[in-house]
Amino acid sequence: MTQDAQKIRLILELRQAGIIDTEILSAMEKVPRERFVPHAFEDRAYDGIALPIGHGQTISQPVVVAKMIMALNLNDRIKILEVGAGSGYQTAILSYLCRRVYAIERHRDLLIGAQNLLDEIRRYNVTAVLGDGTLGWPDQAPFERIIVSAAAPEIPENLTNQLAEGGVMVLPVGDQRRDQMIMRVIRREGVIHTENLWPVRFLPLVPGRPEEDNGNVETSGRFAKR
Ligand code: SAH
Repeated sequence: MTQDAQKIRLILELRQAGIIDTEILSAMEKVPRERFVPHAFEDRAYDGIALPIGHGQTISQPVVVAKMIMALNLNDRIKILEVGAGSGYQTAILSYLCRRVYAIERHRDLLIGAQNLLDEIRRYNVTAVLGDGTLGWPDQAPFERIIVSAAAPEIPENLTNQLAEGGVMVLPVGDQRRDQMIMRVIRREGVIHTENLWPVRFLPLVPGRPEEDNGNVETSGRFAKR
């Protein structure tokens, strides 16, 4: 099967999984997932699974990305914070659905890879930086939406505090041993409402100083310039 055919198959699978929002499907169709995975996994890019991107991290499963984005209810006026940019795959999808994306990643190699790819596919409404996403991005807050791609044991208070009025955050919560849940947090008239959406398994959100790494650019950052 050609890559185009594999991509169409993935979009059909997403539809079958209940992703009916045509804007999300079309954004996902625009993003070349094969470029966000290491060379060795290129031919599996449209298999609908999570794949390793280096540093013990993985590119998220397309259906999980799609469902989390659907739960966010995005539009083109929204400024969103993404914690855990990783390969930049989800960042690229968000950039088609929001006005502006602020992304934080704690591994320098992954960040550089993501920045280069996002640049190559001309996602100019994205700002991605190295940092500890558990702190949020106070200088750019408040955000109308926040999405977190790694699991915290509790909902990080810094992030809740950076949600705009009417804002929505979607994130996995729970430790590695217990079952994790995708949760949705909404700020309405200053009050924080939370709901459990569905069970998941994510890698942990790691607080503290970001990793400078050692120049290992054969991760998702295969085009990384150093
Ligand atoms: N959506 C990404 C998922 C990457 S996996 C993709 O599709 O590629 C989760 C990412 O969260 C990893 O890259 C990891 O390095 C990052 N991460 C973990 N803790 C973090 C933190 N405190 N701040 C920023 N990024 C973090």
